[in-house]
Amino acid sequence: MPQAPQKVALVTGAARGIGLATAKKFLGEGWRVALLDIEGELLGRAVAGIGQSEATLALTCDVSDRDAVAAAMKTVEQRFGRLDALVNNAGIAVFAPLMETSETDWRRVLEVNLTGPFLCTKAAVPLMREADGGAIVNITSISAVRASTLRSAYGTSKAGLAHLTKQLAVELASLNIRVNAVAPGPVDTAMAKQVHTKEIRADYHDAIPLNRYGLEDELADAIYFLCSERSSYITGQILAVDGGFDAAGIGLP
Ligand code: NAD
Repeated sequence: MPQAPQKVALVTGAARGIGLATAKKFLGEGWRVALLDIEGELLGRAVAGIGQSEATLALTCDVSDRDAVAAAMKTVEQRFGRLDALVNNAGIAVFAPLMETSETDWRRVLEVNLTGPFLCTKAAVPLMREADGGAIVNITSISAVRASTLRSAYGTSKAGLAHLTKQLAVELASLNIRVNAVAPGPVDTAMAKQVHTKEIRADYHDAIPLNRYGLEDELADAIYFLCSERSSYITGQILAVDGGFDAAGIGLP
């Protein structure tokens, strides 16, 4: 029997944190993986650390730059010849009250967190079409559904991405492309270290029914599931991976 071709995933924001854990998860499951990040040096070190040169491809790229995204996708096509999964994980966080949120920050958060996935998805669809379908997972946030005093830009960008997920699930179903989202609660990555103050950490701890932050690998498992055949009838869903935070219905710290 002919062997099924080795599948290919592209993970954005893959130099560290949830993105790197996700790339490693795909590799562990036997996929080939393109790791894309704006931080070239960090990405180089991450890919060298993984050490699977045949199965990995490092792409230094800003997801909000249309031409750079198109060039990155071309490289994926030339190197791997197909694309089965796209994980729109790259994101930035600015936590500040409205009056301290500059227009520059507002625009940048929307460009990276919302326009980035839009551009990456547009670039990925033609390749997925050739593979007779695929799966896209957008990384939103619990901030997309719970408001707070600090997240006008970040929360709005993630709420937009959550709606884009549903919109594209409906639109791309005819191409056999499934589109879902994972909405993490707090995960102790470099991003969380940057924006979670001591007070926010203490409040989160009390508000999360499981009483702890999530682990990068716990997010990677959920993301992989939504890209795998195990979720072949699931599309248009936002899966909260948050220790019960959303279910408890408490406001964000
Ligand atoms: P992180 O900061 O550790 O990693 C994000 C990666 O994205 C970095 O490697 C960064 O260089 C890259 N990146 C940033 N801007 C980019 C751009 N324009 N183009 C390409 N790459 C870019 O963050 P993380 O905590 O691993 O977050 C991953 C995703 O999960 C983000 O979308 C974030 O909003 C979301 N999220 C995180 C948490 C959390 O508590 N950590 C909670 C909810 C949602």
